[in-house]
Amino acid sequence: MRPFTYERATDARAAVAAVSRPGAKFISGGTNLLDLMKLEIERPDHLVDISRLPLAEIEELPDGGLRIGAQAANSDVAADARVRSGCPVLAQALVAGASGQLRNMASIGGNLLQRTRCPYFYDTDSGCNKRDPGSGCDAIGGVNRMHAILGASDSCIATHPSDMAVAMTALEARIELLGADRSVRAVAIGDFYRLPGDTPHIETVLRPEEMITGIVLPPPPPGGQLYRKVRDRASYEFAVVSVAAIVSTDGNMVADARVAFGGVAHKPWRSFAAEDSLRDRPATMATYRAAAEAAMRDAVGQGGNDFKIELAKRTLCRTLADAVAAAQERPGHGRGEDSHGTS
Ligand SMILES: Cc1cc2nc3c(=O)[nH]c(=O)nc-3n(C[C@H](O)[C@H](O)[C@H](O)COP(=O)(O)OP(=O)(O)OC[C@H]3O[C@@H](n4cnc5c(N)ncnc54)[C@H](O)[C@@H]3O)c2cc1C
Ligand code: SF4
Repeated sequence: MRPFTYERATDARAAVAAVSRPGAKFISGGTNLLDLMKLEIERPDHLVDISRLPLAEIEELPDGGLRIGAQAANSDVAADARVRSGCPVLAQALVAGASGQLRNMASIGGNLLQRTRCPYFYDTDSGCNKRDPGSGCDAIGGVNRMHAILGASDSCIATHPSDMAVAMTALEARIELLGADRSVRAVAIGDFYRLPGDTPHIETVLRPEEMITGIVLPPPPPGGQLYRKVRDRASYEFAVVSVAAIVSTDGNMVADARVAFGGVAHKPWRSFAAEDSLRDRPATMATYRAAAEAAMRDAVGQGGNDFKIELAKRTLCRTLADAVAAAQERPGHGRGEDSHGTS
């Protein structure tokens, strides 16, 4: 591990000012960054610790949405009664991630920015365009069972590892950012992550000195919400494929739907094609299968991960069926009707 200097930021503006010096990086819970530093994949000269900033609040907004501070622990967000009631898909996704100890340390901001789990990225003897731009991609033609089937490029076929970000994609979260020049902006999560293209080392639209200060969840749409994660063991494991679905029904018809996949692409993958093929269709397995076919129409396997295409389809069908059942148990359920977990 290389030597580095450290400071603890006292407020958000001081933090973005401190990180603007060359070689500086934020550290929050440290559960991803420290591992990468030990392997010298991340090589900051200076760490700006933002974990004690007063950015851990979860607040209700006047419109019925929620604002979650970037320093809120994953475990606190998962346990929050308002999140569990209004955004159960988010609570489910958080609980499906990592382990209890890690969720206690991991922050919301750090979770969004965690790096891929591609094994070649972690193996510094391998070619990896994400770690060392221009060095190639040993996952292409290599062991690529966990890799992308959608949106990949000739430079990188890695997937984004976050469960939470998949649920936030279905919930249409907005990410609040503070810049070193004190500018404040909000980016829709659907615009936050980039596909790998020729520059897989650039993963988001975050500017170099920007800090995530919080997440805004709009009032959730009505209907049933469900997160399903398929993984190689029951806990403490990343997704092979996951699905976040939010479905509302009108009688036996699907009224509206939102669908996002994890484990299939370089970013959480919202499938508008699946959503279009669900809307105003009977809530039947035939409809779900048609949506699954639409979602995976452009999917391409890399050899080792070909099975993921069918797995993603089946995971979507099962998740939709359960989300419809949840919607029919609690019709019209949303933050407006039962937002505080008190009823
Ligand atoms: C064994 C193991 C299993 C895991 N399993 C899962 C899993 O199944 N599902 C899952 O989703 N995750 C999993 N994780 C990943 C875990 O969720 C992340 O490590 C964690 O969420 C990162 O949060 P952190 O606060 O520790 O980030 P850090 O490690 O502190 O930071 C990560 C990155 O984000 C940057 N950063 C942090 N906060 C901010 C901010 N506010 N603004 C700008 N930049 C910031 C840092 O500079 C760094 O680049 C696992 C991790 C481990 C070690
Ligand atoms: S898939 Fe991406 S992260 Fe993995 S080796 Fe290739 S370039 Fe690196």
